[in-house]
Amino acid sequence: MIEKILIANRGEIALRVLRACKEMGIKTVAVHSEADANLKHVLLADESVCIGPAASSESYLNVPAIIAAAEITDAEAIHPGYGFLSENADFAERVEESGFVFMGPKAETIRIMGDKVQAIRAMVASGVPTVPGSGGPLGENDNENKEVAKKIGYPIIIKASGGGGGRGMRVVHTEANLIKSIALTKSEAGSFFGNPEVYMEKFLENPRHVEIQILADGQGNAIHLGERDCSMQRRHQKVVEEAPAPGITEEQRQRIGKSCVDACVEIGYRGAGTFEFLYENGEFYFIEMNTRLQVEHPVTEQVTGIDLVKAQIQIAMGLPLQIKQEDVKITGHAIECRVNAENPSKNFMPSPGVIERLHLPGGLGVRWDSHIYTGYPVPPHYDSMIGKLICFGSDRETAIRRMDVALHELIIKGIETNIQMQGEIMNDKGFCDGAQNIHYLEHRLEHLV
Ligand code: ADP
Repeated sequence: MIEKILIANRGEIALRVLRACKEMGIKTVAVHSEADANLKHVLLADESVCIGPAASSESYLNVPAIIAAAEITDAEAIHPGYGFLSENADFAERVEESGFVFMGPKAETIRIMGDKVQAIRAMVASGVPTVPGSGGPLGENDNENKEVAKKIGYPIIIKASGGGGGRGMRVVHTEANLIKSIALTKSEAGSFFGNPEVYMEKFLENPRHVEIQILADGQGNAIHLGERDCSMQRRHQKVVEEAPAPGITEEQRQRIGKSCVDACVEIGYRGAGTFEFLYENGEFYFIEMNTRLQVEHPVTEQVTGIDLVKAQIQIAMGLPLQIKQEDVKITGHAIECRVNAENPSKNFMPSPGVIERLHLPGGLGVRWDSHIYTGYPVPPHYDSMIGKLICFGSDRETAIRRMDVALHELIIKGIETNIQMQGEIMNDKGFCDGAQNIHYLEHRLEHLV
């Protein structure tokens, strides 16, 4: 049993983890930067440790400081949340070598999934559908590379094996640009990610983003919790997420879900994880696996009734998975709107500052996951997301209407937010129709704000 968990994160996700710990009677240690001493979860935690200055590189990414904090507080396990060190294999390794439980997969799994070529190979071996492509790193032979591209069919996309955060990718429409583009992407990949390896994939022109949530105990048991649609994006950042994905049939869900589960068993996956797919013309194409909890996990919790953070904690305790696949039932529909401290009419410029007034929505099917409170100063140093509004209803239309009402009730004064823009999305005909592709929101935003 684990009696004390150190939460190596900040903001709403740190609070989310703290709440699960408290419910389970587990003690908590908050670590925070000098700018974050007044975070809500820091005030609620049993103990807190300042791990460095405001800059993330010196605090939330400061591995020795985090491990030292775990040592002095006698924490037994470290929950990494999302972002920061959550997908850093070296961190996971250091945590376990120092004698703590890392609340995520084994370091070697994180390392494989962090290398896109290796991840794709693992998926192919397990029968998960991938994007038609080179299947491995591109060599130096120009003619061979031209042949590979011709076989895949233009347009193609060149991607860095070590890429992330939407960087290190280049679309090529004709053979004339191929060789130059490969060389450019390689040199960028080398300087951004320290790994010049690149590979090639078919470029899908109008896909949706559909992802599968899984839980695995690393003891041979794994389940999937259905899918989420995260196609509403701006600059590759998700803005609105929902579960289930409009138009996906139960048969499709079970088929793709099962292939993810098989892959988890095959690779000995441990913890919560997400298989991200592009979805086009009825087909799923794997793009990457996230080896951590996602921002959008609450929509899955709402439609399945399963607490993903509690499940993570149980897995970290070494307990076999408590839920069987046949117990996972998708009921109703959930939508999440990310609430950001930013100004949509000023090119989404971040808007830090003190929250002067806060009124929260409520009622049946309304959930608010956020660390903000009246008087809380949103610092300028971190991600602009300050909360997530999640609405659940018996069907998609009910969830959308409920979200619209809840967004009207949500009042945050003192800083600029994207609340009004989210309200406009809820009233946008294309969004209400559902099943839009990943480019839809970006096009609509030109008219909405
Ligand atoms: P990252 O790890 O940098 O986020 P991903 O492989 O997840 O990289 O890709 C990020 C985004 O790039 C995808 O969500 C999609 O919008 C686009 N993308 C990646 N691969 C393809 C592809 N084969 N066809 C079309 N778009 C793609």
